Amino acid sequence: MADLALLIDLFGSAERQGPGSVAMTRRAIDLAGLAGRRALKIADIGCGTGASTLVLAGDLDAQVTAIDFAAEFLAALDGRAARAGLAGRIHTVQADMARLPLAHDSLDVIWSEGAVYNLGFENGVRQWRRLLKDDGILAVSELSWLTDRRPAGLQACWEAQYAEIGTTSCKLGVLERNGYAPLGCFVLPQDCWLDAFYRPLQQQFVAFLDRQHHSPAAQAVVAAEQAEIELYRRYPGLYGYVFYVARKAAAPWPD
Ligand code: SAH
Repeated sequence: MADLALLIDLFGSAERQGPGSVAMTRRAIDLAGLAGRRALKIADIGCGTGASTLVLAGDLDAQVTAIDFAAEFLAALDGRAARAGLAGRIHTVQADMARLPLAHDSLDVIWSEGAVYNLGFENGVRQWRRLLKDDGILAVSELSWLTDRRPAGLQACWEAQYAEIGTTSCKLGVLERNGYAPLGCFVLPQDCWLDAFYRPLQQQFVAFLDRQHHSPAAQAVVAAEQAEIELYRRYPGLYGYVFYVARKAAAPWPD
């Protein structure tokens, strides 16, 4: 079984596929000033099984297009949306986030939690900008260094997985250079990793390995996740997910 299929199997039954929480999605909604706005058109890109999609559709007057390339995740989201009575507000679309089937200048809000790294932060925010209406909102969470310095081993470990990991100030600079006016940012607290993401994931390991007949590839997936969890516990406060909220600034940036 290919690695991607294994990851989809491991993460598919989870409520979320990356660090975050309902409270932090709501905090970003507040920071973006979206409460009370009418008939919003939102795209939730790399939505997974819809942790943020359900909050956006439930809390706001909005139509949410939820996009992911994993059909299994979208099917899970469809089920969750139906059970929450939100099916009429959530439209799932299977697509590659590098080639989104969305019109230019069509969105009030682009939301993306723990997913833009798949395109690379700068490439992603640059490409997605053209989909936003003028003054549209970008809200993305992104793995970031929280301090100026860190142990070389830690740096090497994350850079091997995500070369574009950078400090919060560096990410804000990327947004400014690419035609956004930052409205603010905040660091996701540790419970968003440990309680909301890692613990439920660890609880899936045994059933996942059983389903996969303890294949070497499945064992390698679990070992890699376990190593990531240990790294996070070992270096609290040096890296984290930061939620960046910004407004699309007017020209002179080229579309
Ligand atoms: N936003 C969700 C999921 C984060 S995990 C949450 O916070 O829980 C990242 C998601 O991006 C996964 O669901 C994965 O399937 C999706 N993804 C990765 N690469 C993608 C691509 N090229 N196009 C679309 N989705 C992609």
